[in-house]
Amino acid sequence: MGQTKRIAMARIAQESNALSPVVSTLEDFKRTHFLEGNALLSAVMPDGQEVEGFVKNAEMSGFVQATMDHELDVELVPLFSAWAVPGGPLSAEDHAWFRQKLRDDLAAAGPLDAVYLSVHGSMNVVGTPEPEADYFKDIRDTLGEDIPLAVTMDLHANLSSAKIDPITILCGYQTNPHRDHAKTGQRAGKIVLDLLAAKVKPVTAWRSLPMLIGGGMTLDFLPPMLGIFRAMKRFEKHPKVLSCNVYMSHLWLDQSEIGWATVVTTDNEPQLAGEIAEKLADMCWAVRHKLPPVFPGPSKAIAKVRKMRLRRKLGTITMCDASDVVGAGAPGDSTKLLKAILAEGDGLTWFFPMRDPKALKELESATVGGDVTLEVGASLDPARNEPVTVSGKLSRFEYIECFGQVATLDLGNVQMVITEGANIAMKPDFYKDRGLRIWDSDVCVVKSFFPFHLYFLPYARSSVYVTTGGTTDFDVWRNHDYARPTWPKDDPTAWRPADRARRGVAS
Ligand SMILES: [Zn+2]
Repeated sequence: MGQTKRIAMARIAQESNALSPVVSTLEDFKRTHFLEGNALLSAVMPDGQEVEGFVKNAEMSGFVQATMDHELDVELVPLFSAWAVPGGPLSAEDHAWFRQKLRDDLAAAGPLDAVYLSVHGSMNVVGTPEPEADYFKDIRDTLGEDIPLAVTMDLHANLSSAKIDPITILCGYQTNPHRDHAKTGQRAGKIVLDLLAAKVKPVTAWRSLPMLIGGGMTLDFLPPMLGIFRAMKRFEKHPKVLSCNVYMSHLWLDQSEIGWATVVTTDNEPQLAGEIAEKLADMCWAVRHKLPPVFPGPSKAIAKVRKMRLRRKLGTITMCDASDVVGAGAPGDSTKLLKAILAEGDGLTWFFPMRDPKALKELESATVGGDVTLEVGASLDPARNEPVTVSGKLSRFEYIECFGQVATLDLGNVQMVITEGANIAMKPDFYKDRGLRIWDSDVCVVKSFFPFHLYFLPYARSSVYVTTGGTTDFDVWRNHDYARPTWPKDDPTAWRPADRARRGVAS
């Protein structure tokens, strides 16, 4: 039907933790996921997903699927896809590199009918708190105001006018933990194609809430969010509603205006979009008092797993260091839990992950199978931690593409896996691939908030969260400087700026 529509697609995605002093670089993307041109296209085609890693391309795969399902004749123009493990803010130079690359690739792409960009929505760059807004601006500067720009984001995006205004169609994950990456890309794809086919005219309304909470209370399958996720899907069934989303923001951002948001896109029904965005915002505001739990410190957490005799016998216990969650951008070199384990963890077998490029340099000259004594930890974030001296046997030393150098130390009751690159240690394979048997462990330490539950399901009989003081503490809001009164640091009486003003609270 009609002429072929050419749609460019690109991805620049990283979730940043602004509190981490470890600056992310282009190298972190290239090490994890970086594809260009035809290599990208073949990876996102339906038969290419398994080869290149399903999740890293999933939004784009969903988008591609939408173009195949649609009656329009579409030519996809793959630019590039870059994804990195969460980390500290990206360096300013590498942000400039991405901007130039995007502009150059768009200019070289030839005539385009639409652009699809996949981002996280909570990326930080040194000196630039909203880098994604730069990418959207670059697209507008290169291709003009009229070209449809479809964007997909993570549910933990922090939204602002600078980010939303340049976008024609915005879709985000509707699950937490996230498992609808492909569906999100597909939704965005269908809307943009319907727009190109002149079947719909997307209009978007959004509301910003001055609240910032995370943790277990935000999971989609548990109250209080269960009802809100269900309502969101119900609203989306309305024939004129194209997309509904609640965005919960990443907690560890260096932005003065931060908080949850609701975004609704309808087919040329601005009032309906506004009404639903308001309803969802009211529902979110009503559950703000459900704050995340306060986790025990290391001593209590160790005492807790010691008591779980039967569960340890039947499998392992996973322990998440909730203050050093690499999955949320923490450095992964905290030593506080390690210190407690060495002092109080006797009689229990521990598997422990550590990121420490400095220690690996030292181990390079050590003999595998020989005894070593060295300092570990705190090499990336020395302000928050102190190194710990350990002695034991170097049981393995290897190079793994996504982690760089990896050393396994046998410290008696602790098996420590030291990596050069970021590691979330959320899969049993992280330990198993080092020759360690999960069944031999009493406790496997992980640096992931939620996904580890799924991967450790066959082995874990219980899990314990521990707080040690670090870059992923839930009470980060205590020290944050907000431009507007924000729950839970402040107690604004209403989320609507007008209502807050009426009640005498500055908005
Ligand atoms: Zn997320």
